[in-house]
Amino acid sequence: MRVRFWGTRGSIATPGPDTVHFGGNTSCVEVTTNDGGHLILDCGTGARRLASDLMSRDENPLNVNILVGHTHWDHIQGFPFFSPLFVPGNSVAIYGPQGGRRSLHNVLAGQMEFNYFPVELNQLPAAITYNDLREGIHTIGGLRIAAQYLNHPAMTLGYRLEGDGVVVVYLVDHEPFSDRLWRADAEPGHIASILHDGDRRHANFMAGADLVIHDAQYSPEEYPAKKTWGHSTYDYAVRMSAAAGVRCLALTHHDPDHNDHFVTEIENRARTLAAQCGTGLDVFCAYEGCELMVEPVKTLTPFVAPASGQPTVLHQKFRVLVVDDQPDMLA
Ligand SMILES: [Zn+2]
Ligand SMILES: [Zn+2]
Repeated sequence: MRVRFWGTRGSIATPGPDTVHFGGNTSCVEVTTNDGGHLILDCGTGARRLASDLMSRDENPLNVNILVGHTHWDHIQGFPFFSPLFVPGNSVAIYGPQGGRRSLHNVLAGQMEFNYFPVELNQLPAAITYNDLREGIHTIGGLRIAAQYLNHPAMTLGYRLEGDGVVVVYLVDHEPFSDRLWRADAEPGHIASILHDGDRRHANFMAGADLVIHDAQYSPEEYPAKKTWGHSTYDYAVRMSAAAGVRCLALTHHDPDHNDHFVTEIENRARTLAAQCGTGLDVFCAYEGCELMVEPVKTLTPFVAPASGQPTVLHQKFRVLVVDDQPDMLA
């Protein structure tokens, strides 16, 4: 399974010289299965460049599945610019959480209403299906996909993708349920020691994953002023992932006020914390163009981390470390 980041910014697109490394486009991740299936996680502004890339691949017709975690702007603004929608014969199946005041179809149509956009949703020539999802197990694009609600001001789903012998979990946007992570009477670092039922459930959802992609918008210092806005810190994402036995953690949904230097600081602090946790968790801050091959391999390949404080080269490939056994699947 191949995972590529096309948008790693949260809240609003932030192009410019200060964000050139980690990127200014909002949430969009491309997942390609080993048999060539296309699955897209969120459709923020990063989806525009992904769409151009897909169109250049000479695949005709294109069949694409899009899963949006929720319909806040930064997760759907790329949808009207997703060029495969403008080609007759292509098929796009879009999935998102049920339970808001309006259906997924109505929300996406509202964004393309003539006051906001020159082409209305019902004018798009591709075959589009709209699927309102609830929590539970679904089969989409040949993958077994578990969906579970996150803690966010809008109805939001996290997705656990199981296929090609690996597990990839997408948890954006999400806020800790509790200020305190561990029970006072238990040893920190284990799922069973997590104080709040919601946080424990969240950790169980990512248990044993090869790759977790997690919201880490705020530094721990910033978080108290941004409470209830629905986002996490690197500290929470690292501690939860380590307790859940995750192999590799990609931090994303970078705050629009965080320049490349600040995000690099977060990455360094996250790596130090992960090392202290002692579970072998690899962690990095996702950047536009970052591509990962998530494979079940027999032998562990050393994770090549970019040098501390040095910008990594765009399109550098990471390898996610995985064990030889088939990962545990969510019951
Ligand atoms: Zn967001
Ligand atoms: Zn949101």
